[in-house]
Amino acid sequence: MRFIEPHAHMVSRVTDDYRDMAAAGCAAVTEPAFWAGFDRSSAQGFYDYFCQITEHEPKRAAKYGVPHFCWLCINPKESEDVQLAKEVVALIPQFLDRPTVLGLGEIGLNKNSRNELEVLEMHIDLAARHELLILAHTPHLEDKFKGTRLTIDALKNNSRIKPERVIIDHVEEHTIEMVLEAGFWAGMTLYPGTKCTSSRAIDMIEQRGPERLWMNSACDWGESVPLAVPYTALEMRKRGHSPARIDRIIYQNPFAFLSQCPKFKLPQS
Ligand SMILES: [Zn+2]
Repeated sequence: MRFIEPHAHMVSRVTDDYRDMAAAGCAAVTEPAFWAGFDRSSAQGFYDYFCQITEHEPKRAAKYGVPHFCWLCINPKESEDVQLAKEVVALIPQFLDRPTVLGLGEIGLNKNSRNELEVLEMHIDLAARHELLILAHTPHLEDKFKGTRLTIDALKNNSRIKPERVIIDHVEEHTIEMVLEAGFWAGMTLYPGTKCTSSRAIDMIEQRGPERLWMNSACDWGESVPLAVPYTALEMRKRGHSPARIDRIIYQNPFAFLSQCPKFKLPQS
């Protein structure tokens, strides 16, 4: 089995997780910028974090032969402070030429507030100006439907954004249609408690087909499973999916999306 883990917060994981992911066939990991488990007190905290995910984390992953890529932004959970967000967004361009930076992510909304929306629009504008891929987070539970709608509208409002270069993550049964119908890619996040279980993700694949879909574990410091993607692949096998179809979902689809950034190159490709 080979798979790409396109959404993993590896800075919060132990090194053994890299070993286990490599042993399970992980061909690459991409790490969106996210909340650190606490609110950072200044833009300098983000500067250090961007150094961590562009310089240090790729080295840790390389010890297990796993190519590590990342996405930059100020995440929606810390976007309420618009002044701080402006300072962080201003830091991003100096990192964009680094060899493992694929684009902006995970941008989006958390509580669907006006300030979060303003910061989302700042990021969308930055992505448009630099022709960057986008990985978008969507809110959880009761805020998801409205937050997904608002995110799609904000992306569509910027005519320079090409939907096929945007993945909208954490889709569920009630949001997947609107994302795919608007021309975006959709990510299904396999989480033990919230978000989406393996069986629900496979149901969605069976209903929609594999087009423009990927799966990720979004593993972070919370209760999450770094091997959720290969575990779901095993579940797909049990449910009679062919090896070719499984490979499409867990390897070829993320490969196709991510390869729209020329920096995404894997050793065997
Ligand atoms: Zn995430």
